[in-house]
Amino acid sequence: MAAPLKILFLSAEVVPFAKSGGLGDVGGALPKFLRALGHDVRVVLPAYRAIETDFYAGRGGYTARTEGLLVPVRGQGRPAGVLEGRLPGTDVPVYFIAERNLFDRPELYGYDDDVYRFAFYSRAALVLAEALDWRPDLIHAHDWHSAPAITWLATAGQASGFWRGVASLFTIHNLAHQGRAGWDLFSYLGLTTHGLAEEGYGAVNLMARGIYHATLVSTVSPTYAREIMTPAGGAGLDGLLRHRAYDVHGILNGLDYGVWNPATDRRLAARFDAARLEERAGNKRALQERAGLPARPSVPLVAMVSRLDWQKGLDLLGHVVHLLLNGGAGEAQFVVLGSGAAEYEGMLAQLAGYHRDRMAAFLTYDADLAQLIYGGSDLFLMPSRFEPCGLGQLIAMRYGSAPVVRATGGLVDTVQDGVSGFSFADYTTGAFWDALQRAIYVYNVDRPRWQGIQRTGMTADYSWGRAAQSYQQVYAWALARMRGG
Ligand code: ADP
Repeated sequence: MAAPLKILFLSAEVVPFAKSGGLGDVGGALPKFLRALGHDVRVVLPAYRAIETDFYAGRGGYTARTEGLLVPVRGQGRPAGVLEGRLPGTDVPVYFIAERNLFDRPELYGYDDDVYRFAFYSRAALVLAEALDWRPDLIHAHDWHSAPAITWLATAGQASGFWRGVASLFTIHNLAHQGRAGWDLFSYLGLTTHGLAEEGYGAVNLMARGIYHATLVSTVSPTYAREIMTPAGGAGLDGLLRHRAYDVHGILNGLDYGVWNPATDRRLAARFDAARLEERAGNKRALQERAGLPARPSVPLVAMVSRLDWQKGLDLLGHVVHLLLNGGAGEAQFVVLGSGAAEYEGMLAQLAGYHRDRMAAFLTYDADLAQLIYGGSDLFLMPSRFEPCGLGQLIAMRYGSAPVVRATGGLVDTVQDGVSGFSFADYTTGAFWDALQRAIYVYNVDRPRWQGIQRTGMTADYSWGRAAQSYQQVYAWALARMRGG
């Protein structure tokens, strides 16, 4: 076994405490699996409103609240409190930076002062480690929210005895959100550093800073790692990423198979596994019933569960679903679960109204219904414009629903066309429709091959255990780099 490391893990989202997307799943799962490899991982995130509320109500298993952290911003010590808890089912400590003015708000993000809120959180996490006299070997920071910790470490931190020689890994989960600020943010943090070409005069780009200052950089799939180095996929930072090409690693997110298991999932109407595929029929029936669709076992049931966002390819979806439900590939049913942009909600509601007997649209967030959809649908659509890793296709595969995906980012690395699902390359209605037709053809006429595709997906290993091993390797490289290796 590799030598145990002390890892300070900074993520703005950590399941079950705070989640808006895939970042939260990673924040909740990866520390647990690093701990299982023997590492001393400690997680820090802000004490958002829901967390403070649970603490005062005695819920959530928080163990203590201490005051007295003094976080140096604008040349003065600004006080913050610290709540302490554990990642459920583990002994991994989780610390929450409590500062009412900054974090006691209804939402996690979306405020004018977001860059200052997360700069404060990042700086406070470092002050906390010093207060605990716990010097990590490495800081693992995720997305722009915790990038200020990396910048501080690489600049002011190198002049401090405590932090000198500490390595860092910066993980990009979604390059579309970069955290832009004015130069004043560096005055706030007490940093003097030169500007980067990517930032523009007088501006700070926290994502760019994380990439620039970290010992090593990673992102959540090998294909996304290559895509973000191209002008088309780099969101303005491709030059900087190419400059660091040698230091950028792609590691696929895992799926927590303890949680995502169709043989034990209580949210399903019928439990099953790869050896008992026929049991799935009970879920399909329950889903058709829930969706108000005719309970017909042999009609292909196509589904989607997604945030309704530009990223997710919803403009292609509208055309293709209309074609599908007009009988373009024979009989079919479609169920969608999603919430988000009003224009897409409107489009889906309209389609569902038009194809009343074949389609149902649930325009909400519903984790239980999502499971029934994964476990009861035959095909699962993800026509994403871009997809750093993607969780939906991993869950769908695990639950025996064949994914039909656009070949981008993590979808390339996880779905093999004709083997574990179906994929298409060009972002066009024609290419999407072609892949969906191919999938439905196999479903209708070649049941043994169809079941082979289901079984391949269900038994593939996208576990966190495997991902944690890869992170462990990258940590070792980062430490070697700090030692001049
Ligand atoms: P992203 O993080 O970009 O939203 P992912 O595919 O990585 O995309 O993760 C999406 C996760 O959120 C999946 O677990 C999916 O089931 C879940 N999800 C998305 N929308 C909904 C919804 N409306 N109801 C329930 N679960 C949802």
